[in-house]
Amino acid sequence: MREADRITGYMKRMTATAMAVLMLLTIMVMPLQAASGAGSKNTAAQVTQETVYIAASGNGSKYHSDPKCSRMKKTVSMTREEAEAEGYEPCKKCYR
Ligand SMILES: [Zn+2]
Repeated sequence: MREADRITGYMKRMTATAMAVLMLLTIMVMPLQAASGAGSKNTAAQVTQETVYIAASGNGSKYHSDPKCSRMKKTVSMTREEAEAEGYEPCKKCYR
């Protein structure tokens, strides 16, 4: 009985040590994850910087990657970010 208690106590100490090591590893790895997260954020910003075209008539509700899409006579170019900010949606033909 006493022996079993001794073993249980030993196991608990081992678990506590393992948890402490795990916490330490997490703290050490966290900044690396944050750095890679910032990297992917930059990539997303580049995507929204791409030029898109909307119909100059103002009647369209879609933005296009191809100014010749949907037989548009005149187009206005802007960044994808601007188009989305103004409520335009991606054209189904240009963005599948
Ligand atoms: Zn289109």
